[in-house]
Amino acid sequence: MKSDIEIAQAAEMLPISRIAAKVGLGEEMLEYYGKYKAKVDTLALRDRPRKGRLILVTAINPTPAGEGKTTTSVGLADALTLLGKKTVLALREPSLGPVFGVKGGAAGGGYAQVVPMEDINLHFTGDFHAIGAANNLLAAMLDNHIQQGNALDIDVRRITWKRCVDMNDRQLRNIVCGLGGKVNGVPREDGFDITVASEIMAVLCLASDLMDLKTRLGRMVVAYNRAGAPVYCSDLKAQGAMTALLKDAIRPNLVQTLEHTPAFIHGGPFANIAHGCNSVSATDAALKLGDYVVTEAGFGADLGAEKFLDIKCRAAGLSPDAVVIVATVRALKHHGGCPKTELGKENLEALARGLPNLLRHVENITKVYGLPAVVAINKFESDTDAEVRMIREACGRYGVRVALSEVWGKGGAGGVELGEEVLRILEEGEKHFRFAYASELTLKEKIESVARKIYGADGVDYAPAADKELQRLTELGYGTLPVCMAKTQYSLSDDAAKLGAPEGFRITVQKAKVSAGAGFVVVLTGDIMTMPGLPKVPAAENIDVDENGKITGLF
Ligand code: ADP
Ligand code: MG
Repeated sequence: MKSDIEIAQAAEMLPISRIAAKVGLGEEMLEYYGKYKAKVDTLALRDRPRKGRLILVTAINPTPAGEGKTTTSVGLADALTLLGKKTVLALREPSLGPVFGVKGGAAGGGYAQVVPMEDINLHFTGDFHAIGAANNLLAAMLDNHIQQGNALDIDVRRITWKRCVDMNDRQLRNIVCGLGGKVNGVPREDGFDITVASEIMAVLCLASDLMDLKTRLGRMVVAYNRAGAPVYCSDLKAQGAMTALLKDAIRPNLVQTLEHTPAFIHGGPFANIAHGCNSVSATDAALKLGDYVVTEAGFGADLGAEKFLDIKCRAAGLSPDAVVIVATVRALKHHGGCPKTELGKENLEALARGLPNLLRHVENITKVYGLPAVVAINKFESDTDAEVRMIREACGRYGVRVALSEVWGKGGAGGVELGEEVLRILEEGEKHFRFAYASELTLKEKIESVARKIYGADGVDYAPAADKELQRLTELGYGTLPVCMAKTQYSLSDDAAKLGAPEGFRITVQKAKVSAGAGFVVVLTGDIMTMPGLPKVPAAENIDVDENGKITGLF
């Protein structure tokens, strides 16, 4: 089998104008970024209805390699296209951090990819750089304000706004800046986040249009003053210039899959301290243009789907029609205690022990959220027939539809069974969508709803700092916001080592903070890394380019 990049480079792409034409987007609605990428003028779509059916792709709790959600999303979209349906894909943009670190790119895999994959993985249309510039403009204006006399009485020990860069660079995690005497700034402790962890990323992805973006940026909390009151971005009068920097970045990027299905790739917020899905503007445009829209949420269903449903759908008035839950034989065996080195060998006992993880997620989607679900078994070469049969039978006994997905090896043709199952549940129309909690509940009641209903926890404990902060945020008027849970993606609990479907555990909330522009309260159950580091051998060491500009080693 060829590598992802070899497959992508061998593909024949159609000019992006032809992809756009498939969904009725004329030249006048496109801004070209070369031959194969374009930004779409969403203003021109403003008054159109959202007519498409929305299909969310999520997964079981992942192993460190990822379970193939992006691959399955791309393959499912191509399968639906193959079945004659007008389909549009909506996915996140990759960050340079993982591309050069451990995980590699995020444009799908095998014969289920979006192209041009090198561009998508490296800078793309510059959206993330624009976000970095807007983020750092605000940081510069904040420190300048302090230098120029600090009329807002900002407490330099309580500045919450950090600088950012789209790179895994642990060296910048904690820094001391403003050194060098009076003319060189006010010395203070600071730190960098990776750009995808900037609140601006979450804001850009939840904003309905440019003016909503500006309003949201203005209400971001950047610091507290010495009396303990919040200082907002608007106090620094930064939101206008920041929005000017972001005026193109907010428009969704159109590309294509290997099989020429139109694909929006736009925005990429973290799935722990933020909500982890592509922009509302991309999903909205896709729903206005396509009859079927396939989209992905980050991490497993306990984090990604929960936030997609409770945060994004609530904020954007979206109502999904079906959910695909991706599982792999390997990851289920991992949940059943099979050691990493043995995952390639048949092991029905481990698989049986791991299956409850899948069934718990199925139950959450169908019973808590009231949405129809299909399990997609993302087929790896090492999977045996007996293993696949065991998953099928377990799903059958449980009453949930299941399909084998071979899109990684076969593209859209390998996803026809999955596509047909998805169409079937859409036709049956068994949908009673509801959120996991109501907005009117208190912050603690919301946290407990998610912990009990979604994670299966017995309850929630609060560290004193978290208790105090939730109280304070409520007093500041943030109590009606949804909660954005930050916890490990590897377990349904807040302990990465508790695999499968753990029971008899409690969740501990360590910290809380408001993302007032994004419109949620971030609830942290442990230390969440917002500036990752590179591994001993970074993926970057294998990436190269020849004299013709042809890139190799990207995966
Ligand atoms: P996720 O979106 O869940 O993080 P991806 O779709 O990005 O996962 O896949 C993670 C990695 O696994 C990619 O490198 C992809 O090529 C690879 N992969 C996905 N599905 C398969 C499969 N069925 N067989 C082999 N490799 C796969
Ligand atoms: Mg993905």
